[in-house]
Amino acid sequence: MNFEGTTYRPPVEANSMLLQVTVGCAHNQCTYCNMYDDVKFRVINTDQIEKDLIELRRIYKKAERFFLVNGDAFVLSANKLKKISELIKRYFPECNTISMYASIQNIQSKSDNDLRELKNCGINDLWVGVESGWNTVILDINKGYTVKEAKTELSRLSIAGINYMAGLMLGVAGKDKGIENAKHTADFLNETKPKLIWAGTLGLFEGTPMAEDAKKGIFLPATEIEILEEEKALINGITLTNVPFYGIHPTNTFPVIGNLPADKQSMIDKINDGINEMGRATLSQSFQRNSL
Ligand code: SF4
Repeated sequence: MNFEGTTYRPPVEANSMLLQVTVGCAHNQCTYCNMYDDVKFRVINTDQIEKDLIELRRIYKKAERFFLVNGDAFVLSANKLKKISELIKRYFPECNTISMYASIQNIQSKSDNDLRELKNCGINDLWVGVESGWNTVILDINKGYTVKEAKTELSRLSIAGINYMAGLMLGVAGKDKGIENAKHTADFLNETKPKLIWAGTLGLFEGTPMAEDAKKGIFLPATEIEILEEEKALINGITLTNVPFYGIHPTNTFPVIGNLPADKQSMIDKINDGINEMGRATLSQSFQRNSL
């Protein structure tokens, strides 16, 4: 197998077959992110992808779900993605789901017909790093689109029948803004209806524009208690039914997991228990998260 650069995948994809189709991230400009700073974006050629599939088939008897690596693999053209899907089905005919990271711009670059065809090829679960539903924050962190555009694109995805899983970043709005961020983000999720919600916490990684802004006092990080209050407000504000909420990223102070709305109160109680145990005084500072 040929993997180039660091491979990132959502923890929920732990049992999926990983297949690298791009190196790095085509956007690579979010102010908090250094995941792909060590590699130059490029597309893996189809011959290499087929070689990897042949090798995987020799090793594995069965693979029903594939996760295409790397940062925004949905950037590939619809034709290239259809070709990859054909190859996966050739070597793993039992595969029923192909998943990957996708940005809003990646969806924007595809026609409604492309999206329908990709869904029919088995591309039916996309991970979108939403981070926040507050337009001010989305512009500040340089995601490369507006919240209005994100809603339009996620609605097109939904019409095509492709599920999306939302990745969120608690604390991303900074000091004193967590509750407002939670309100905007809950409204965004309620409108765009993700299949699953994943919440991590902002880390200030050395060398990123956001870490530099924090050093200069331009970006003020939220305290731990603010982040936990934000998480509670977020959970409380989500009105979706039967949606798993995973607040179990290693960057989170207390792990919470459950199904919304059934486990809403138990998840909020768990955060409150953590706050009581650790104490508000300890949580009134910002913890350092500078590596994954
Ligand atoms: S789109 Fe994702 S991988 Fe790319 S820079 Fe932004 S956060 Fe990093």
